[in-house]
Amino acid sequence: MSAPVAIVTGASRGIGAATALELGRRGWSVIVNYKTSREQAGEVCRKIQALGGEAIAAQGDVSLPEEAAQLISQAVELYGRLDALVCNAGIALPQMLLTDVTDRQWHELFAADVDGVFYPVRAALPHFVRAKKGAIVTVSSMWGQVGGSCEVAYSAAKGAVIAFSKALAKEAGPSGIRVNCVCPGLIQTDMNAHLAPEDLDALREETPLARLGTAADVARAVCFLCSEESSFVTGQVLGVNGGMVI
Ligand code: NAP
Repeated sequence: MSAPVAIVTGASRGIGAATALELGRRGWSVIVNYKTSREQAGEVCRKIQALGGEAIAAQGDVSLPEEAAQLISQAVELYGRLDALVCNAGIALPQMLLTDVTDRQWHELFAADVDGVFYPVRAALPHFVRAKKGAIVTVSSMWGQVGGSCEVAYSAAKGAVIAFSKALAKEAGPSGIRVNCVCPGLIQTDMNAHLAPEDLDALREETPLARLGTAADVARAVCFLCSEESSFVTGQVLGVNGGMVI
């Protein structure tokens, strides 16, 4: 039997790259989606191939309906199956008061973080329905669960991802499709590269497990939710935050 196939959006860097790598390590064939970081996406594929796995890099802006649909159909045409979709691609705004958020920032954020979940999921659902199975994992944030000061727009977008995931779990469950959401805490990736060492220290101190998260920490949770190990788990919101939000 052929290996299960997963698409990971935004897999050129950070959490998406770690997730693609971990899926590859566990025997999945992986479509490594990226928007601009072509070199890094290629590097992720080479690492998976070095582990004996199969991976291809696929460019596509998931905030655009045609490109998201093309990403899904490319995977299905190439491998003849699709088993899991990880909607990880996302952006954040600099921390700022809501009154300073421009129209353009608001729309760009919602395009990447909310449209970028809706479009690939909508395109993948008919394949999952036909197969009568499939796993969708969305990547939200602890701020989507509890809201963050100076993170209002990001919190709103990530809150939308949580509600989307819960509602779709109810709608798609009878078709054998599971939908779960992972909410990372502070994870050391490019997204947080702007934080000063003293800010990182303060966040570490606030975290019950007394450390910051790694992309690999989140990747393992995502892989669990993609796999048959979580076959009776759907509609759940799994925090991967060292206890920062309980
Ligand atoms: P990152 O290191 O900045 O990487 C973001 C990834 O998303 C890149 O691969 C980027 O691709 C891709 N991307 C962005 N917009 C895209 C689009 N429109 N279409 C396709 N790909 C797109 O971010 P990260 O920290 O790994 O975050 C990954 C996810 O976790 C995001 O949804 C983020 O909101 C969430 N999250 C992160 C943290 C954290 O502390 N890091 C905490 C909570 C939640 P290119 O490089 O090719 O542009």
